[in-house]
Amino acid sequence: MSGLGVLEAPTRSPVVKEHVLSVMNSVRAKNPNEPEFHQAVQEVLETLSPVLERHPEYRSARILERIVEPERVLMFRVAWMDDQGQVQVNRGFRIQMNSAIGPYKGGLRFHPSVNLGILKFLAFEQVFKNSLTTLPMGGGKGGSDFDPKGKSDNEVMRFCQSFMTELSRHIGPDTDVPAGDIGVGGREIGYLFGQYRRLRNEFSGVLTGKGLGWGGSLIRPEATGYGCVYFAAEMLKTRKQSLEGKVCLVSGSGNVSQYTVEKLLDLGARPVTLSDSNGVIYDAAGIDREKLAWVMELKNSKRGRIMEYADRFKSAKFIPADPSLDHNPLWDLNADCAFPSATQNEINGRDAANLVKRGVTLVAEGANMPTTLDGVKVFLDSGLMYGPAKAANAGGVATSGLEMSQNSMRLSWTREEVDDRLHKIMIAIHQACETTAEKFGAPGHLVIGANIAGFLKVADAMMDQGLA
Ligand code: NDP
Repeated sequence: MSGLGVLEAPTRSPVVKEHVLSVMNSVRAKNPNEPEFHQAVQEVLETLSPVLERHPEYRSARILERIVEPERVLMFRVAWMDDQGQVQVNRGFRIQMNSAIGPYKGGLRFHPSVNLGILKFLAFEQVFKNSLTTLPMGGGKGGSDFDPKGKSDNEVMRFCQSFMTELSRHIGPDTDVPAGDIGVGGREIGYLFGQYRRLRNEFSGVLTGKGLGWGGSLIRPEATGYGCVYFAAEMLKTRKQSLEGKVCLVSGSGNVSQYTVEKLLDLGARPVTLSDSNGVIYDAAGIDREKLAWVMELKNSKRGRIMEYADRFKSAKFIPADPSLDHNPLWDLNADCAFPSATQNEINGRDAANLVKRGVTLVAEGANMPTTLDGVKVFLDSGLMYGPAKAANAGGVATSGLEMSQNSMRLSWTREEVDDRLHKIMIAIHQACETTAEKFGAPGHLVIGANIAGFLKVADAMMDQGLA
């Protein structure tokens, strides 16, 4: 089989190598046509060899074979009526991947590209990420191939109501607690929560990312972006540097991107790009607070396109997306740091090489699996500071965990209190990745650190709980 060996962690054991290879082969055979799921599993399995070498009991308990198999996969029809009175049909999903350390937790994605393989990759990643947060949360993910773009509020509401009518049978505050992701923001969470409450006749913390007046947590909207920047600041500290004055590339222009830019500004950096699926805006003068406020209004209220930024601000130029290119021009600009915050596989091997060539010395992943395996290898070989998604973007789900705690206690913490907890969690995650990488013979390798630290807690819980 191809591919193994890209990120391989140090191991001398042929038995372990054989074991990892056979699990990977079986994942490919049992889950055909799911390349993103294969990629996510491969990245984790390749880094676990040192653990499997030290802990043969995980091998005999077949932890790897079990951890790659979702506990439950739900797939369902979502029929709804559009504004013209036409019936529309979409497909809904919820992947309940692993609940060994807590209720399933992970976002819902509404995007036309959504399919089973993409959600399985996201659910698999979520298991390790949630474990890293130090909070008791299992891993799950869900969504639909529904595209909220261009739909009226009423259409989005009818879709969400139909989607939740089925999903409500499978979730609950102690079972499975979904949140937002691409295409699911405050508006969608509101409609989903309203329908759940109506169907179940209960007001509970069944979703996170709720509005502040009805159980939401302060800082939850900001958390993924803020957390990613806190993580980047920790990486820089290891080299006695800070974000002050650093020129930063940010992709996407949604939730994660907006709050990444906000926190970068707080810490004195100069963000110069944003993007969406139509292209990139490059503002060499910097995206300041006034421009960011304009982007937030454009994206969150007017639901416009990022190209409009270049009409409004003359210091910026718009580079339209060109699918015929083998690289993204966004990653071919001079900068110090990069924050991919749009979607999976948005940085390929060529993009990664361009970033290195352009002087980038830090990459912190706000999006999930934004870099292909080839790209990750380029980053690791170049020696730049690389913060993998599972660790760098865990602030979102960590703050969702804090929202769940507040809901259970029926109280609300202040903005400062939640932000302080988020900051401390990101510092702890960075520390855990560093220490674990060192302990397993790969100092500074945060991919190995994140994967092993996330894996150990889940694997031990699975061992303790017997065959399940
Ligand atoms: P949003 O829907 O708010 O924004 C997504 C942004 O990415 C938009 O600008 C969108 O552009 C762009 N985008 C999405 N898909 C594509 C694509 N196929 N090609 C080009 N651009 C694309 O989502 P979020 O900001 O919430 O999520 C962004 C990333 O962060 C995702 O990978 C998500 O899984 C990850 N993440 C999010 C968390 C959260 O708390 N929200 C937590 C952890 C990770 P367009 O409008 O044109 O589609």
